[in-house]
Amino acid sequence: MTKESNAINILGAGLIGSLLSIYFRKRGLDVHVYEKRADGRQQELLEEGRSINMALSDRGWRALDKIGFVRKSCP
Ligand SMILES: Cc1cc2nc3c(=O)[nH]c(=O)nc-3n(C[C@H](O)[C@H](O)[C@H](O)COP(=O)(O)OP(=O)(O)OC[C@H]3O[C@@H](n4cnc5c(N)ncnc54)[C@H](O)[C@@H]3O)c2cc1C
Repeated sequence: MTKESNAINILGAGLIGSLLSIYFRKRGLDVHVYEKRADGRQQELLEEGRSINMALSDRGWRALDKIGFVRKSCP
């Protein structure tokens, strides 16, 4: 008889992979995230086609609220 595993692998640490990994972790799953790109914060030049600017819609804020992200109001 095999023991059931609660480990889950997520390929891609983009918006969806990162958010999903937090949801799964909060449900007690053992989450492993794999990203094929290097960490942009460690690189002098950002990879072509990647943007660090982000506009957050109400839908995005609601997704962050659900994972317990504290929203700070703008002055
Ligand atoms: C220039 C630009 C500006 C944007 N600006 C905004 C904005 O302001 N606001 C907004 O809401 N949306 C914006 N978007 C859209 C937003 O980026 C996408 O909707 C969102 O990133 C999709 O999320 P995702 O997780 O599905 O894909 P991605 O963010 O693309 O993440 C997928 C990840 O998976 C990785 N990956 C792929 N294959 C593998 C593999 N085999 N193994 C491991 N890793 C893998 C990739 O490297 C990537 O990091 C913008 C998009 C672009 C191109």
